[in-house]
Amino acid sequence: STVFLNGDYLPMEEARISPMDRGFLFGDGIYEVLPSYAGRMVGFDPHMERMSQGLSAVGIKLDWSRTRWKAVCDTLIERNGSGNLGLYLHVSRGADSRRFHAYPENVSPTVFAFTFEIPAEPVADKSRVKAFRVVTDRDLRWERCHIKSTALLGNVMHFQHGYQQGVDETLLFNEREELTEASACNAYIVKDGVVITPPLDQYKLPGITRYILLDLLRKDGQIPVQERTVTKAEVYAADEVWVTSSSKEVVPVIAVDGRPVGNGEVGDIWLQAQKIYSAGKFDY
Ligand code: PLP
Repeated sequence: STVFLNGDYLPMEEARISPMDRGFLFGDGIYEVLPSYAGRMVGFDPHMERMSQGLSAVGIKLDWSRTRWKAVCDTLIERNGSGNLGLYLHVSRGADSRRFHAYPENVSPTVFAFTFEIPAEPVADKSRVKAFRVVTDRDLRWERCHIKSTALLGNVMHFQHGYQQGVDETLLFNEREELTEASACNAYIVKDGVVITPPLDQYKLPGITRYILLDLLRKDGQIPVQERTVTKAEVYAADEVWVTSSSKEVVPVIAVDGRPVGNGEVGDIWLQAQKIYSAGKFDY
């Protein structure tokens, strides 16, 4: 595939970075992942907004306009076949001459982007959706989870916790047994027809799919939405559980820690919500 690295488009096999790159040595970088279907991106502006916020939070100075990013995305999409693609955008602090923790003064950020194939657009269809089974774990990541840092070892270890048990995701809970999110998704429950998701703070990534979904549900007005604390007991007793992320959209969860969610089948509110998401997502 064709990738973008520091101003050049080149085959992935030819892309080279320095082993002194702080992205490599420290996980010192910010990234984004967004989907594109037949050349149409979902959530380009909110993804750009989140990236700027992340870059300024960690003091990486990159004076790129949104137009410039758009051109890189459009070029990569076109050169990689314009199909169902995930776009990975990455800015690390850059390569320094020595390994020293402090932010260096005179390095330029490393900008890297590539595409990867993703499944066709998710469809609101109970018989075709791949429902998830999940387990739970104590959230042991840092207190800056609102920053989309490339330092993902905490998330990787939580994902692995579920993966090695043969499930698809791991739901994370703080020391008070309150839901934060999943290792690579935001999380929701449905109880008595109400969609409930934990409020944003430094313990969760402000997911773009979460933002789009909540905005669309509120505009549609048929399914009530609440942002409030969700306990582990509420997750076990929920009628439905969902997780969301950019490449997966809204995913129904049918088992938590081996216990069926509701009647153990994909729920009706999920169906309605995924329909609303599919119909509205390209407006973001
Ligand atoms: N939470 C975490 C920890 C993530 O890594 C992700 C993205 O993969 C999400 C939530 C979902 O965010 P988005 O909807 O922007 O993809």
